[in-house]
Amino acid sequence: MGQAPSCGRSSHDHNFFKAVEGGDLAMVESSLRMDPEILHQSTLYDRLSPLHIAAANGRLEILSRILDRSVHPDLLNRHKQTPLMLAAMHGRIACLQRLLQAGANILMFDSLHGRTCLHYAAYYGHLDCLQAILAAARSTPVADSWGFARFVNVRDGNGATPLHLAAKQGWPNCLHILLGNGALVSAPTGRYSYQGSTPLHLAARGGYLDCVRELLAWGADRKQRDSSGRIPYIVALKRKHRACAALLNPLSAEPLVWPSPLKFMSELKPDAKALLEAALMDANREREKNILKGTTYSLPSPVHWEGEIDNDNASEATDMELCCICFDQICTIEVQDCGHQMCAHCTLALCCHSKPNPSTLCLSAPLCPFCRSSIARLVVAKTKIKEEGDKDSFSKPCKLRKSQNSNSEGSSSFKGLSSAVGSLGKMGSRGSGKIADGCDMMDKP
Ligand SMILES: [Zn+2]
Ligand SMILES: [Zn+2]
Repeated sequence: MGQAPSCGRSSHDHNFFKAVEGGDLAMVESSLRMDPEILHQSTLYDRLSPLHIAAANGRLEILSRILDRSVHPDLLNRHKQTPLMLAAMHGRIACLQRLLQAGANILMFDSLHGRTCLHYAAYYGHLDCLQAILAAARSTPVADSWGFARFVNVRDGNGATPLHLAAKQGWPNCLHILLGNGALVSAPTGRYSYQGSTPLHLAARGGYLDCVRELLAWGADRKQRDSSGRIPYIVALKRKHRACAALLNPLSAEPLVWPSPLKFMSELKPDAKALLEAALMDANREREKNILKGTTYSLPSPVHWEGEIDNDNASEATDMELCCICFDQICTIEVQDCGHQMCAHCTLALCCHSKPNPSTLCLSAPLCPFCRSSIARLVVAKTKIKEEGDKDSFSKPCKLRKSQNSNSEGSSSFKGLSSAVGSLGKMGSRGSGKIADGCDMMDKP
């Protein structure tokens, strides 16, 4: 799709389009003084307006000048693409935001594949553009007329959602944002790719391990078949993506799944969310080490999450600072309203130990393992992570915690959680026999 002003109507127009493309503001201004109507010209073949060219090439100043002259932001080119779509395609975040500010419509469909600007951002993997469009969708009339959830899951002419496109192209960060905004993890495509493919099929086809991880952590179903009856595992095997196949094998250990149906999980503050997401990826990585042992694939360097807890702190900590469930990690999460604390790993184990029913997404809400009161909120524990010579700030809340916790150490919910934690395998650095069992299954295909 050429965004270059290949053939203007005249040499005058041609020079103007060239100036827009190259960001030559002085030249653009002088052309506009000579002939203000030039703004309404477009290139001959692609019918690109100056606004399209500025958006595709990230020429923010020129784009702003054009919009200031009350040019409509939703001009269409030959393929009914808007400047907003081109900005999303090329990752021009500043131009994209300026267009949104000017009232560009996020719910336009091109005539190539029937795609929206959200499809473009997802397909080309421009995370910042994706987030900006989603933010706009929450605050524009689209949310009222269409509904936000429907917009996130909007299908193109072949039945592909933005999530399908991000999985097909291998953009795990885009998957993460889309899933966090309510994208349906196991939706089948229409005609796109192989009929009935889920995002997991598409990630498996491309061999995108990080995408497979992300989708599994959001509850993608490894047993869902496409229209030809294939599960993602078979798709990955056929393409010789061994590491993906190992994780997709329905016989290998189930990954931890982000408990999105729980109300207090969807209401997490960003800091608590980052801690729990890091714990989830951590636990799944531990599990993967064993699953992938038999493959030639070596693990990538760990993803760095904001707010990730340094494990060295945990291993140096005295038992006063430790989580009273696993005695391995520092308490970082506080249950409200009761105020009991535990580590992020144990919190997740508490919320994840039963996988939600994929058809109803029903998940029974867990109770605080210490006092069995219902959990209203999860927040980051107020106690600071241990710093050198800063032990005093810890001992007090920890003592309190210990005495609170000891009251109900024998309760059945506590025991249940301990065994749930055990079945997840190791939450820190120790090995686990249980995960190795799952691995044995893997070694015998
Ligand atoms: Zn713990
Ligand atoms: Zn409690």
